[in-house]
Amino acid sequence: MTEITLEKVKENLYSRPHPSLTPIDIEAKAPIIHEILNLKARHNVVILGHNYMEPLIFNLSASEEQGDSLGLSRYAATTEADYIIFNGVLFMAETAKVLSPNKRIFIADKEAGCSLADDFDVGEIDKLREQHPGAPVMIYINSYALAKAKCDVCCTSANAMKIALAMPGDKIIFVPDILFAENIEQDLKGVKEVIYPGKDSDTKGAVCEVHEKFTLDDLFAVRKSFEMPKGHPTRRIYAHWECKPEVLREADFYGSTSQIGRDIAERVAAGKLERAFVASECELTSNLTAEFPGVEFYTACSVRCQWMAKMTLEGVLKILRGIDQGADLSEYEVLLEEEIIEKAKKPIELMMQFV
Ligand code: SF4
Repeated sequence: MTEITLEKVKENLYSRPHPSLTPIDIEAKAPIIHEILNLKARHNVVILGHNYMEPLIFNLSASEEQGDSLGLSRYAATTEADYIIFNGVLFMAETAKVLSPNKRIFIADKEAGCSLADDFDVGEIDKLREQHPGAPVMIYINSYALAKAKCDVCCTSANAMKIALAMPGDKIIFVPDILFAENIEQDLKGVKEVIYPGKDSDTKGAVCEVHEKFTLDDLFAVRKSFEMPKGHPTRRIYAHWECKPEVLREADFYGSTSQIGRDIAERVAAGKLERAFVASECELTSNLTAEFPGVEFYTACSVRCQWMAKMTLEGVLKILRGIDQGADLSEYEVLLEEEIIEKAKKPIELMMQFV
């Protein structure tokens, strides 16, 4: 194994177009990154990085190790690596474990939750099934394995519409994201009925505490401040599916993280994007800024996911040092009961058959 030198790490960091990365950050963090990268290579470790990770953490991952939650879990299932460190939140690491039960999956902080997964009680699924007998239950990937285990099919923000249409019947129950459900309901009007927690019943769902922060007034202010009138040929507002319905309708494009990234890439390639505002987690925009330096990006830096922010360089280093020293890593290892793995795997595998 060729040693990665500290100089090489610094050179690499200084060459990146990260507006928020100062020389002070680079000098302070380079030795940690240097140790992480060498331990990663020495022990055949894969470090998966979700798009919402801050740039220094995101770039611990090679490009094939970066992506959205499902893409990363799929990669986890195919890699030959001995150890996998998941830089994301707990439900994502659980999904990787469900798809790769024989691999050792670690996360730097098991308290890295998600309002969608944490605020949803699995008992609501039984109530909805009772109220709508025979309707299939589709669950958003942003949920724990315990909840997935009670559902028929899983979906991501990139494929929810496709899966909803592929399931039999004229009705689908969608949990737990109420705002995403309302958005799908609008797009499927007249085609399929979408049932969700709280709709004509006393059931309770959840929302993404990050995406729900964006309001219609925010988007109007962005259009005015950054001279981005609706329908402008090269200036676009992007919104994630988890935002409020009125925010989606005002945006120039809405979709999943990967769909937003693809639209940006296509427009950049065609010379049709000079300015963009992304109504999503702010570190997504940091990573897009690095990937597309020719585009002027704007975002709301106060809109950061507190759970994603629990991943730190220091936390990742602790896991790697533990691997190096053969220490007890139970504090970081994601473990699930075999029965839950088996049951949660079914809706995920069914989803994969449709995409
Ligand atoms: S951004 Fe929203 S959906 Fe994603 S992990 Fe954070 S709270 Fe959950």
